[in-house]
Amino acid sequence: MTARRAFLKKSLFLTAAGLFADTALPTSALALEPPPDIFDAEVLDLDFWVKPRVLEVIRPASGERAKILYWKDGEVIDSAYQELCHLLRDVNGGNKMIAIDPKLLETLWGTQAFVARYGISTPLEILSGYRTPESNQRLREQGVPAARKSLHMDGRAADIRIPHLDSNVLGGLVRSFQRGGVGFYYRNDARGGWIHADTGLQRTWKG
Ligand SMILES: [Zn+2]
Repeated sequence: MTARRAFLKKSLFLTAAGLFADTALPTSALALEPPPDIFDAEVLDLDFWVKPRVLEVIRPASGERAKILYWKDGEVIDSAYQELCHLLRDVNGGNKMIAIDPKLLETLWGTQAFVARYGISTPLEILSGYRTPESNQRLREQGVPAARKSLHMDGRAADIRIPHLDSNVLGGLVRSFQRGGVGFYYRNDARGGWIHADTGLQRTWKG
């Protein structure tokens, strides 16, 4: 077993009991265990990857919520893709939009679809999607962690959270899909931290 695999196996196991500490615990979450080889997400099973893909997201900043079937029969559905690009727009930067990297959508969907297997069907919270350069710069000036050349500005990154799901589990899972960088942002406030997922170089960091 690789160290990475061991890490997630451990973190999934350790946090399974505490996942829903302050909410109703779905019975299936009690059985939360990683598949035999979670880090080779391709081997999850063929069914997992070929089924129609529905993404359910919330934008806490704007209060929007949507459940969108965006991929079917091996193809992205254009109107749904446009809708997702709109949802991932810069809500703090004049609502500007950009074409979101479909690979990023795949990571978001894969993450949500995977945890759904354990009875966790809460929508994915998108804290930040596309950012205009001005918006990104403003965050930097406010002391919010944002890279100078952030992939958010290219539509290739999202900061996400799944309510009540431990950040380690979420980040480990995102990393397991091996689609790009993963940033772990732990915070001690009531809402917890978030995970940055992008489609750049495969790397991991703590912010
Ligand atoms: Zn980010």
